[in-house]
Amino acid sequence: MGTVLFAAGAALWPEYAPHLRAAFAEAGITLDLVTEAAPEDVDYIIYAPGSPLQDFTPYGRCKAVLNLWAGVERIVGNTTLTQPLCRMVDPGLTEGMVEYVVGHVLRHHLGMDRFIHGAPGWDQIVPPLARERVVAVLGLGELGLACARALKALNFAVEGWSRSEKPELGFPAHHGEAGLQALLGRAEIVVTLLPRTADTENLLDARRLGWLPSGVVIINPGRGALIDDTALLAALDSGRLGHATLDVFRTEPLPEDHPFRHNPRVTVTPHIAADTRAYSAARVVAENIRRGETGQPLLHLVDRSRGY
Ligand code: NAP
Repeated sequence: MGTVLFAAGAALWPEYAPHLRAAFAEAGITLDLVTEAAPEDVDYIIYAPGSPLQDFTPYGRCKAVLNLWAGVERIVGNTTLTQPLCRMVDPGLTEGMVEYVVGHVLRHHLGMDRFIHGAPGWDQIVPPLARERVVAVLGLGELGLACARALKALNFAVEGWSRSEKPELGFPAHHGEAGLQALLGRAEIVVTLLPRTADTENLLDARRLGWLPSGVVIINPGRGALIDDTALLAALDSGRLGHATLDVFRTEPLPEDHPFRHNPRVTVTPHIAADTRAYSAARVVAENIRRGETGQPLLHLVDRSRGY
C-alpha cells in the first residue's frame, strides 16, 4: 500500500477528490489518496502552484510530482524539487483553449465589434474569407497545435512557429529568429501560446512588434510576460497593433488602474481561456500513477533545462 498526497490546496480538494477516486478505481490504483501524510510515506504528489508545499526535500520516496496546471514556471525553478515533474495535458483544458482562441480569432476576423456596437450608415465592408487571413500561432505544443489545427479546419491561412523544426503539420511551421521575423511580417492575427521561460520572456518586444504589419491583432492566452507591456501599449497607440486580447498578465489579478483596463483597443479576460477540468485531469493523473507503478515512462515530463 502506498500514498498519494493531494497537495494542490484545500480549495481544490472537494472538486478533485471524487474524480480522483473514480479515476484511481478505473485505473486499478489501490494507493491511498490523502491530504496529509508523513513525507517519508508519500509515493506521488498532486500539485498546483501556490500550494503550501514548497520544500520537496523530505519527500525522498516520491516517484513523481503531478502538476494540475499546464504552465510550470512557478515550480520548475524550485531547487528542492529533484523528483520527476509532470505537467498537465488535459483534454478538457485543450478543448477550452481551442474554443477561446477560435472565438477571439473569429471576432477579429469578422470585425464583429463594429456591428455589436452599432456601426452607423450602410458601409458594406465584407470581411475576407478565412483562407485569405494569415493567422500566426506562436507555440506549437499541446495547445498551440490544437488551436492551429482548429483554425486550419476553418480554412484560415495558419502558419506556426516553435523552438524546434516541425515538418509535415499540414501548414507552414517556422522556427528560429529569421522564421519569426518572416512570419510576423505577414501575420494579420497573432496567437501566443508559449510557456514562460527565460527564452520567451519579452519575446514580443518593441523590436519584434515592429516587424508586424499595421493593424495586426494579438491574442495572448499564453503568459503575460511573453509581451513587453510598455512596447505593446506603444504599438497600440501608434496603430501598429489594431487590438490586443489578453487573458494573462504579469500581475494577476490585473490591477484596476493598469493601462490595459482603460484602453479601448485592449480586451482583458481574467485568465479564463482554459481551465483544467477535474473530471478529465483526474484520469491523466491516474494514468501517470499507473505508469509509475508499472515501471512505464511517465507522460508529460517537464524538461528542467528547457523550463517547460
Ligand atoms: P507545450 O506543449 O509545452 O508547448 C509549448 C510550445 O512552445 C512548443 O511548441 C515549444 O516548442 C514552444 N516554445 C517553447 N519555448 C520556445 C522558444 N524559446 N521559442 C520558440 N518556441 C518555443 O505547452 P502547452 O501545453 O501548449 O501550453 C502553452 C502555454 O499555455 C503554457 O505554458 C501556459 O503558459 C499557457 N496556458 C494558459 C492557460 C490560460 O488559461 N490562459 C491555460 C493553460 C496553459 P517545441 O515544440 O519546439 O518544444
